[in-house]
Amino acid sequence: MTTGSASDFRQRLHTLGLSDSVIEAVWPRWWSEGADESASARAELRFGVARRLGMDPSSLLDDRDEPRFLWPSQARFKHLSGESDTERAGISAFGRAVAKPLLNATPLPDIPRVDPISARDLREMLLGIGTSPFVTLGDLLALCWGIGVPVGYLRVFPWPQKRMAAMTVRLGDRWVVLLARDSRYPAPIAFWLAHEIAHIFLAHIQSEEVIVDLDRPGPDLLGDDEEESAADAFALELLTGQPQPTVVADAASAAPSASGLAQEVASRGPGLGIEPGTLALCYAFTTGEWEIANGALKVLYPPEPAAWSEINRLAVDQLRIDELPEESRHFLDAVFAHEVS
Ligand SMILES: [Zn+2]
Repeated sequence: MTTGSASDFRQRLHTLGLSDSVIEAVWPRWWSEGADESASARAELRFGVARRLGMDPSSLLDDRDEPRFLWPSQARFKHLSGESDTERAGISAFGRAVAKPLLNATPLPDIPRVDPISARDLREMLLGIGTSPFVTLGDLLALCWGIGVPVGYLRVFPWPQKRMAAMTVRLGDRWVVLLARDSRYPAPIAFWLAHEIAHIFLAHIQSEEVIVDLDRPGPDLLGDDEEESAADAFALELLTGQPQPTVVADAASAAPSASGLAQEVASRGPGLGIEPGTLALCYAFTTGEWEIANGALKVLYPPEPAAWSEINRLAVDQLRIDELPEESRHFLDAVFAHEVS
């Protein structure tokens, strides 16, 4: 067996195509240059990195071996566009590797079971509990944490190219949602979180399985993938009250602009029971005017804090971080770019 220096090992991970940020995040804090002298430290380094990347440790111990990800077959990818087998295996394995410590630090609620419920009933329930006239990203997050489903926003991704919107990992009878959709604003992230909640409540995910939703501009209600159409319709009904909301400009109004749309959705949204940013996205979904809708989001929301940082701040509040080993705490800290330890 050839177990070379740490820099050789780092180079192997690079050659596989892994991003600098993920290599940094999975590298143990205890490592120092002096540790290279010790064969057991070099092995321990590889075991730790393998665990945090979801790789087969034996494939990392010998430098002549091809590094392999674990569990490549138990992941289903939605809306693939040319991702290689290794890229897919890396995404799902990393998702599981992050999900495990997250679940270990998430208190089990009194009623951990997720009973089937319609989008309409779930919406009524959230509107009954919340203080807004519409369902917000905050309501969805509270729902998830309330049923023992941790939600985090990945700031580190295995590959330099990130084309994932969200994924849900099921371990035993529990779920973890990891969000990745690039957006500073709550509405697009709320759509993807609602979509993942739909996968959970519609029982789309078998035990030990991962569903990875690759990014796409908007809902796909008429596509070939029935699970995806069902999850999109569930998400839209949860957020808007209708599984296929149609939002167009008044025939009499001037050509829509970002600021005009922002004004319109801000004044009409509450009366319709739809969060204004979500209403702007429904307009884009109906008309294809994504640029105008994205411009409206910029007007509607303050520039700070970014939605992802709020999601991870809440995660830090909810997690029982002290129950995790130090290396897991540092790992989550790096992955969520938030001081969890
Ligand atoms: Zn999906």
